[in-house]
Amino acid sequence: MKVTIFGTGYVGLVTGACLAEMGNHVVCVDIDAGKVERLKQGDIPIYEPGLEPLVKGNFAEGRLAFTTDATPAIVHGDIIFIAVGTPPDEDGSADLQYVLAVARTIGRQLDRYAVVVNKSTVPVGTADRVRQAIAEELTARGVTVDYDVVSNPEFLKEGDAVEDCLRPDRIVIGSDSPRAIAAMRKLYAPFNRNHDRTVLMDVRSAELTKYAANAMLATKISFMNEIANIAERVGADVELVRQGIGSDPRIGYHFIYPGAGYGGSCFPKDVQALERTAHAHGYEARLLGAVEQVNHEQKAKLFELIQRHFGGQLAGKTIALWGLAFKPNTDDMREASSRRLMEMLWAAGARVRAFDPEAAEETRRIYGDRGDLVLCEHPYDALDGADALAIVTEWKAFRSPDFARIRGTLATPVIFDGRNLYDPAAVEEAGLAYYGIGRGRSL
Ligand code: NAD
Repeated sequence: MKVTIFGTGYVGLVTGACLAEMGNHVVCVDIDAGKVERLKQGDIPIYEPGLEPLVKGNFAEGRLAFTTDATPAIVHGDIIFIAVGTPPDEDGSADLQYVLAVARTIGRQLDRYAVVVNKSTVPVGTADRVRQAIAEELTARGVTVDYDVVSNPEFLKEGDAVEDCLRPDRIVIGSDSPRAIAAMRKLYAPFNRNHDRTVLMDVRSAELTKYAANAMLATKISFMNEIANIAERVGADVELVRQGIGSDPRIGYHFIYPGAGYGGSCFPKDVQALERTAHAHGYEARLLGAVEQVNHEQKAKLFELIQRHFGGQLAGKTIALWGLAFKPNTDDMREASSRRLMEMLWAAGARVRAFDPEAAEETRRIYGDRGDLVLCEHPYDALDGADALAIVTEWKAFRSPDFARIRGTLATPVIFDGRNLYDPAAVEEAGLAYYGIGRGRSL
């Protein structure tokens, strides 16, 4: 099929590459000319496992193209995806300016039936606004063109995006148009060969489904962080509690890891945006507010532990960080816990030496060159001259470190384990002080 995708970020680029891989002809449009140029050169602007060969291969086969020119792209697409960003507005609600700008662009060009698909995470009612924006442009042109607007939220996880896209656990399609539904079913048929993963619903329910999914996941994390904070105070180990509750199939082991708080481009903004939607409809979503509040405080947790350990004297200290990305297998630093930690450390007069397998370049882009941040090429380089080690992102490479080497390199042997990667007893046996999250020994 002929597909057009607006936005070549994590969602747009991965979706475009995966749809091309299934044999479709995909044109990806972005307003960022630098990004488009890099993509044309086979230089993938984001780190996502498996993405590079998929993009390069389909580009070489002529099934995947990149452009800044919306006009031919709109002429090309039978199905036109909107996969641009929906960042938080000043009050936390989703900023729809990019989505609506694309809708107007489509309206200015559309000259035959197309299915316009909202893949961006957008508040309930946005499909109506997209439909309206297109209609206004068509009216201004004095033409009548038939089109449908479908909601097809994306559930891929950064770090597993290609895998999730090629093997989705569900494909939510929100539409009441049989013609649009038929086109979407045809497009997704290759992803449904094993069994039908389509969950068909009305547009508003589809829009809400995405927010409900992210709010549920964020709630699980904040819940476990709350239990960790209680465990710490009562002398219990949240890691044992986690295993104890995870064994109940109604709860399960997935996504109940306590830590240094959630970040990323989705959970923080989506929880806030859902709260704003609820508020706008006269309902105060108290649980969502608490999820957000717990997370905000949790992101300061590592700093508090470090500060307490050093008796409030952090000026002149150097803290080594392992992990900068908001989670493993990505270079995404949006709302990453490491940012809050580094900014608090800097404000207290400390310096940071950090290692991350993928996010160093993005960190440099965000913070520039500054004297109190050294980005290291190797995890153990970060320890040189450092007073402590903090684990911020649970990359696999950090799971079984050489504790003797860590003890031998750090000026004071102490680990602050923001992801509970290590067995406290094993760390202490190696001669290092250990602080984890909710491990009954941190007060
Ligand atoms: P992103 O910021 O990585 O990419 C957005 C891209 O859209 C940018 O390259 C930007 O230049 C481009 N863009 C902006 N305006 C444009 C326009 N008028 N025409 C063409 N391109 C334009 O964003 P992302 O992480 O891919 O997220 C996109 C949407 O998908 C968001 O609503 C997000 O909430 C949602 N989502 C993201 C994820 C994720 O893991 N990142 C997962 C599911 C859903």
